[in-house]
Amino acid sequence: MILKFPGGAAPEQKSQYAGKRIEELTDCSAVCLKIPENAEARCGLRENETVDRGSFVALVGGTPVYSPVSGLFQGRVSMNDGDYYVIVSDRRLREQRIFEPETRDLRSLGFAEIQKSVRELGITDSRSGLPLWKLMERLRGGCRRVVADCTESDAVCGISARICIEKCVSVIGGVKILLRATSASRGVLAFEAGKTRVREAFEKHLGADSPVVCARLQEKYPYNDRALMNAIYLAELGRNETAADRGVLIVSAECAAAVYDCMASGMPMLDRYIGFYGDGIARGANLKVPCGTTVHDIAEYLGGRARKTPVFENSLLNGAPAGGAVTASTRAFIAQEKQKRRRTPCIGCGACAAACPVKLIPAEALGGAGAEAARACIGCGACEYVCPSGIPLVSMINKRRARAAEEKGGDEL
Ligand code: SF4
Ligand code: SF4
Repeated sequence: MILKFPGGAAPEQKSQYAGKRIEELTDCSAVCLKIPENAEARCGLRENETVDRGSFVALVGGTPVYSPVSGLFQGRVSMNDGDYYVIVSDRRLREQRIFEPETRDLRSLGFAEIQKSVRELGITDSRSGLPLWKLMERLRGGCRRVVADCTESDAVCGISARICIEKCVSVIGGVKILLRATSASRGVLAFEAGKTRVREAFEKHLGADSPVVCARLQEKYPYNDRALMNAIYLAELGRNETAADRGVLIVSAECAAAVYDCMASGMPMLDRYIGFYGDGIARGANLKVPCGTTVHDIAEYLGGRARKTPVFENSLLNGAPAGGAVTASTRAFIAQEKQKRRRTPCIGCGACAAACPVKLIPAEALGGAGAEAARACIGCGACEYVCPSGIPLVSMINKRRARAAEEKGGDEL
């Protein structure tokens, strides 16, 4: 059965990349490790200190950050989009091992021990950009289900499918570790119904009595927590409610695989799986790259990028312009102009309302009485994508919200 959810857009552009093997890029000139805004960061290195791959760099927001390359630590550097720790690579990949592979029986480990391990290993979740131990912290009311989100961040992407096909055992293993940690009774591998090879890979490794099952989802985007909860559990999240509030831990396929791989090897999460696609790049690819690899280095590896083509992070629907490097929330870079239609007046077709996952009538959110609706908008971009009149609904709703906040005299709604 294909699980459906209300709202979302079904882009015509489909991925050609789900069939392409993941390539490994190790030869980068430098890595830039983003320091989240307002995070307390305590650096453990001096400028110009030599580091190995795996050396401790800093404690950022309570999560250790390790060097993904060997080379020279340049210190904390401010760039246009925030602060980074920069390490210039010596291209030798000398490795330092801080932790030993996990030898304890994973079935004997509880929540606190697994949470401590994933924290020490610096495992982050690319869906939320948050450290996994913090996501686990949110499950205060208990956990009933663990969901590995194996969907893509945009229809053009293929990296999640490749992770599931090539690292199937790791994804399933990571979900099982998280099931033990949280005492949840069932794990779910959620992927688009059209990804036949993903289904085949999972089914090959899942027994009939496995606590982990597959969920085949309708191909619509974006797949945020709300859409997943609705499609899998028919649950309607309230405005400020999260999946964790309903006892569901949702992580990316990459994060689940990292839990298994990092605990088994004792190596922290030093690499990231991302895609780089679009007609603004000489060739697109699914890639394994060191954390913090620059957009420039990846583009060079792929044969170069057309100079003025904008690069978006994760999605053409609701993705933001990409920063300079792979961050904790990067799943893909897309070098491509967003689809633009000539703007014409609203024809009242209702397509925007049908696409809205939070059941707004976007065109109404722009009017005088639309402040409340504007506040409920989650900025997913589905309405704008489907609008035949080319109306920039998301930016107009954002402006409406800011105007309403001003009228109210202060805080953004
Ligand atoms: S109104 Fe907001 S929540 Fe609804 S589809 Fe548009 S961007 Fe998404
Ligand atoms: S999709 Fe565009 S044209 Fe159709 S009702 Fe919404 S704003 Fe108007």
